Amino acid sequence: MGKKDYYEILGVSKTATDAEIKKSYRKLALKYHPDRNPNNKQAEENFKEAAEAYEVLSDAGKRKKYDQFGHSGMQGGTDYHNFSDIGDIFENFGDIFGNIFGGGPRQQAKKSGLTPQRGHDLAQPLTITLKESFLGCKKEIRLYHYISCSNCRGSGCKTGTKPTTCGACRGSGQTIRQQGFFAFSQPCQSCYGQGFTIPDPCTSCRGQSRTQKHNKLVVNVPAGIYDKAELRVSGKGDAGIFGGSPGDLYLTISIQQSKSFYRKNDDLITHLNATYPQLVLGSQIEIESIDGSREVIKIPRACPVGREIIVAGKGFKNLHGRGIGNLVVIPECDIPKKLNPETKAALLDYAEKLGEQTSAIGSGIRGFFKRFLG
Ligand SMILES: [Zn+2]
Ligand SMILES: [Zn+2]
Repeated sequence: MGKKDYYEILGVSKTATDAEIKKSYRKLALKYHPDRNPNNKQAEENFKEAAEAYEVLSDAGKRKKYDQFGHSGMQGGTDYHNFSDIGDIFENFGDIFGNIFGGGPRQQAKKSGLTPQRGHDLAQPLTITLKESFLGCKKEIRLYHYISCSNCRGSGCKTGTKPTTCGACRGSGQTIRQQGFFAFSQPCQSCYGQGFTIPDPCTSCRGQSRTQKHNKLVVNVPAGIYDKAELRVSGKGDAGIFGGSPGDLYLTISIQQSKSFYRKNDDLITHLNATYPQLVLGSQIEIESIDGSREVIKIPRACPVGREIIVAGKGFKNLHGRGIGNLVVIPECDIPKKLNPETKAALLDYAEKLGEQTSAIGSGIRGFFKRFLG
C-alpha cells in the first residue's frame, strides 16, 4: 500500500505557507490527541501520520526534497521519525500543544537523561463523623508511599555522576531486530527504552530515584463533604520517577452514622419528641444542633406528627459553594410509658371531655378507655 501524500494528510495545498501548515497540523493533532481519544487505534494512527507529515513539511529542506522526489526521496529515521511511541511526538513537537493539555513530562524540550515519569495516584479510605463533615475538620492520615530520594534528589545517580547514553542502542532507546526482509524496532533491553543508563546508582534508592516510606499527613476536610465523596490531595500520591511530577492521593470519605442526625441533600435532619399538648397548643422547644449550637424550634399550633419544621440556613454547607441547606426538624409525639396518678387523672378527665364532645361516635371514648385501663 502506497503512503499517503503529506499535503493530503494535513489538508493543505502544495503552496501552503509554513503558518498554514502549522495551523493545520495543530488542528489535527488536537483532534486526534490520545488524551481525547483513549484506546482509539485509528486516532493514534492519524495522530502519528500527521506528526510525520508535519515533520517533513515544516522543514524547508525536507519539504523541498519531498516536493521533488516524493516519498521515495525521504529517508526514515533522518528525514522523518517512525513515531512508534506517541511520547516521541510530544518530545519533538511538544511546543505546538502549548499548555492545552496541562503540564507533565510531555512538555520536555529535549531528552537529556532518563525520562521523568509521573508517580501513581493512590487511594485510601477516610472515615469521619457526621459532625466532622458538617463543620469540616483536619485529619491525620497515615500512608505508605514513594517519596523522592533525598540522597540523590531524585536523579538516581550517585552524587557527582550523571546518566550516560546507553551503549547498546546509542541513546535511541530502540534496537533493530532483523527477521528475513523485515526489520523490527523494539525497546532496548539494556536501558528499557530509556536511551540512558545510570553507571553509578545512588546507594539509598539503588538508582530508582525514589524510596518507599511511611508518612503522616494532615489533610483539611472541607465542611459539607458527603459520604463516598473523593477528596483529592494534590501531589501526595507516589513521587514521580527521575524528577517526574508526583501522583495525587484520593481519599474516599466514609461518614459514620449519627444517633440523632442524618443528612438529606444539604439538609440536616433530626426528630424532635414533643408532648401531645405541645403539638396541639403550639410551643417553643430548644434543641441542641449537631455543632452544639442551641436552636429554638417553633412548633405551630395544631402541628401534626411528621410535619417538617424548617430552620433556614442551618444545614450543611454545599460542597460546591451553592449555598447552605436547612435544619429540618420532624416532630414526633412523645408517648409516656408511665404516668403518675395526677397526670393519669388529668388525661382521663380530658378523654372524658373529648368523649362528650364526640359522643356521636359509638359508645364514646370513656367506654373505650374503661375496657383497656380497667
Ligand atoms: Zn537516590
Ligand atoms: Zn539502550
